[in-house]
Amino acid sequence: MSELDDLSVRQLLVRRRRLAAGLSAPERTLRGVLVHKGRRCSSEGCRCRSGELHGPYAYLAVYAGGRSRTIYVPQASEEAAAAHVELTQRNEALLQEISQINLELLRRRALE
Ligand SMILES: [Zn+2]
Repeated sequence: MSELDDLSVRQLLVRRRRLAAGLSAPERTLRGVLVHKGRRCSSEGCRCRSGELHGPYAYLAVYAGGRSRTIYVPQASEEAAAAHVELTQRNEALLQEISQINLELLRRRALE
């Protein structure tokens, strides 16, 4: 990262500490993306068979172990799931930046 090149080790450590302080509630980590989609039911004559799908319903698209799957999110849990997902994305963006700083510290033989 060229932007980090311009910072001193001291500045990198300050920035790293500030980023780490921004992390919150790791117990709420929920990786995935919330999506909404309609679905077909199992009854033969239903309107959904002609394209008028039920829903939309909320699902959590999860990528793990090299494959992705979607998990139904009950309506009562949707708000909580959205909050968890948002917090997780914020934390992971911070962790990504922290990792870049640590990489830069490693390059400078300043990783402790
Ligand atoms: Zn149906």
